[in-house]
Amino acid sequence: RESQAKKFIRQHMDPDSYPNIGSSYCNQMMRRRDMTKGRCKPVNTFVHEPLVDVQAVCFQEKVTCKDGQSDCYQSSSSMSITDCRLTNGSKYPNCAYRTSQKKRHIIVACNGNPYVPVHFDGSV
Ligand code: 5GP
Repeated sequence: RESQAKKFIRQHMDPDSYPNIGSSYCNQMMRRRDMTKGRCKPVNTFVHEPLVDVQAVCFQEKVTCKDGQSDCYQSSSSMSITDCRLTNGSKYPNCAYRTSQKKRHIIVACNGNPYVPVHFDGSV
């Protein structure tokens, strides 16, 4: 079974595409990374920074996750990200996404040994 750490990489890491991100980026990437199987995942963020820099966030500022309970970590630097959001009229299996590029501080949850990102909580 896919580990939580590998799943985070599949769903959220894309260090090499930036800055060549076009309007169909999310339509292609959400499908290519298997987030349009069974249902269209409604919101997903890709991070365009080296994996080591994203892994390092697990040792940066501790913040509360959106669930209000677990510990998350906020990146000290702003990072290049792409926000993928399902369009209103989109109907499975035709998952259509809006692609928006941003520079934000990312917030992730970490787990395991090694202690690595396992959940993308959001960005500020
Ligand atoms: P909305 O903006 O629709 O109210 O909520 C979308 C939420 O999804 C935001 O709180 C945003 O931080 C969060 N979000 C963004 N990207 C991801 C992601 O890749 N995974 C998860 N679980 N949440 C995300």
